[in-house]
Amino acid sequence: MLLYIHIPFCKQKCHYCTFFSVPIFPELLEIYLQGLKKEIILRAKEFNYPSISSVYVGGGTPTLLPPSVLEKIFNWLHKNFSFRECVEVTIEANPETINGKNIFAVKNLGITRVSLGVQSLNDADLKFLGRRHTAREAISVYYMLRDAGFNNINLDFIWGLPGHTPGRWIKTLKKAIKLKPEHFSCYALTIEPGSRLARNKDKFNFPDEDMLGQIYVYGAELLNAAGYLQYEISNFARMGYFCLHNQGYWEKQDFLGLGPSAVSTIGDRRWQNPANIKDYQQMTARKMQGLDYETLDKKKKINELIMLSLRTTRGLNLKTYRKMTGKDFLEEHARLIQLLYKNKLLKASNGHLRLTRTGMLVSNTIIERFMVD
Ligand code: SF4
Repeated sequence: MLLYIHIPFCKQKCHYCTFFSVPIFPELLEIYLQGLKKEIILRAKEFNYPSISSVYVGGGTPTLLPPSVLEKIFNWLHKNFSFRECVEVTIEANPETINGKNIFAVKNLGITRVSLGVQSLNDADLKFLGRRHTAREAISVYYMLRDAGFNNINLDFIWGLPGHTPGRWIKTLKKAIKLKPEHFSCYALTIEPGSRLARNKDKFNFPDEDMLGQIYVYGAELLNAAGYLQYEISNFARMGYFCLHNQGYWEKQDFLGLGPSAVSTIGDRRWQNPANIKDYQQMTARKMQGLDYETLDKKKKINELIMLSLRTTRGLNLKTYRKMTGKDFLEEHARLIQLLYKNKLLKASNGHLRLTRTGMLVSNTIIERFMVD
């Protein structure tokens, strides 16, 4: 089982963000911890003290919590779940929250992988995104993490900002590659409804579709040439450093999400915790009563298989599809597949169907056309 812990606190909201996070206050932190402790105990019991294969501590900004609080959370987890088979423990960190005081405490939690929210190495871009750190600070924290002994580091980046061109993105990536992280996550900027950016979007000139396409393709080629293998639309890693947690998620393994707003899928059941700390705490006090559960029907499961697997470079396993549906995917979508082949957007080999790099660029449109109604 994959385990996700949501830490819902941030210093301030980044302009593009709609994840559930709020400023940290002692009383609110206390309420959150009461809820989390209760949820850990309840869920562990419900699923018979399961064995965890990977942990992902995300948010929010987990490294905003005092080390003693993180320690407390990890103690609860270790008491209630089996970590014997756990091979990866990731924590998300923002540069302004890592310092000489907490870095070793974080390391001592048993963290094996740090995902550092760099987002850009250009200070104007960082300001546009509403980040609270400079490029220099991000680089210095990266080296601090290395010095502290972290040997599996992901750097998060966002591309497609106003003024971005392939040249500008390549310049940023070249600087980042020099740091030699094990992993890159490079996401296209999306303007999420409800974000501050969505309210101000008309004030900016974003790159057009053609430009975005070039940025994506040139960036991916550069990362490949530097030895980073693309294993999903936005994810690249050195051999042996693919994120096991994300891979598990794409392969539809059971995952348990703890904390406000966290989503879980175990077997056919899916639920999401309230995106409000007080509601979350009350819900755990009522032993999860009132929480909405959804049963995944066959159609939904098929669509998720198509959607998640076509986002990866491994692609859709045609045998798995046949097993699940009793149908042949290539026959079922013969016309569309032929058209996509012809336009070099799709390829097939070893019983898998995958999007090409240009196909990945328009993945949403392609995947939508394969969806079962
Ligand atoms: S630090 Fe991350 S979670 Fe917090 S506001 Fe920024 S993007 Fe959102």
